[in-house]
Amino acid sequence: MIAKIKQLLEEVETLKASNAEELEALRIKYLSKKGAINDLMADFRNVAAEQKKEVGIKLNELKTLAQEKITALKEQFEAQDNGSAEIDLTRSAYPVKLGTRHPLSIVKNEIIDIFGRLGFSIAEGPEIEDDWHVFSALNFAEDHPARDMQDTFFIEAHPDVVLRTHTSSVQSRVMEVSQPPIRIICPGRVYRNEAISYRAHCFFHQVEALYIDKNVSFTDLKQVLLLFAKEMFGAETKIRLRPSYFPFTEPSAEMDISCNICGGKGCPFCKHTGWVEILGCGMVDPNVLEANGIDSKIYSGYALGMGIERITNLKYQVKDLRMFSENDMRFLKEFEAAY
Ligand SMILES: [Zn+2]
Repeated sequence: MIAKIKQLLEEVETLKASNAEELEALRIKYLSKKGAINDLMADFRNVAAEQKKEVGIKLNELKTLAQEKITALKEQFEAQDNGSAEIDLTRSAYPVKLGTRHPLSIVKNEIIDIFGRLGFSIAEGPEIEDDWHVFSALNFAEDHPARDMQDTFFIEAHPDVVLRTHTSSVQSRVMEVSQPPIRIICPGRVYRNEAISYRAHCFFHQVEALYIDKNVSFTDLKQVLLLFAKEMFGAETKIRLRPSYFPFTEPSAEMDISCNICGGKGCPFCKHTGWVEILGCGMVDPNVLEANGIDSKIYSGYALGMGIERITNLKYQVKDLRMFSENDMRFLKEFEAAY
């Protein structure tokens, strides 16, 4: 018995544990109910009476040493834990960089915001469309050259299915299921089969607005256009309208704004004219209203549409359209401060 206790005393003296699990295993081995020391305690009653005193002292010594050792190891681990979690409150915060909004998103949101304040609500539709919503419902005749003019992507196996060439398709989708007053703004991506260069891309973004109600006139359109131009490009901005042609509006116009780079004096950007073209607009052709189930004798309306890339170019002088889709961080980071 004495020999056994001495052996355990030596063991306990050199106890080592490298982690909390090992320490717990040691505690169970020596100090638990079924541990080595308890076993000895149980055997104590079998010790001869004359040895009881000596064995008792040694046994207590062993138990105390084991408890002290294990407590000491435990404290050591706890100290280490605290050490690794030590916090330096004077250190500057880890720089978590927020992403930036894409310039097209910034400008799109600004356009939506301006029209939102005029009571226009957002409408969206599918990018993969059918011929009806992209062309026929918008007064494009079956053999209308504009179908070619817009360089449409047709799906080969399904000639009726196209990638929308303009967001006007959303207008026809809204008109066919609702009656005036309709006041919507349709932002979205459109596709055209064009060779990619610094000034053309096979996809770009548009925002169109549509307002249909009783007694809507060209004057209403002009007023909204002027307000939009001033909000978007500054209070000094002037607008001018030039007659144009679109299948879905009659009369149609294109709007120029006074060049916001030279203030109208003339510069290379405006080709020294002092004006830059920014959008197309017009009164909704009665044929379009009728094709979409709206009585053109009661209602009239205006529509306008612009390329978001075009507006972004004017605001930020982006010279190459391809920059918008290349995800070059150096380019995107330039817009960190914009919003
Ligand atoms: Zn200019």
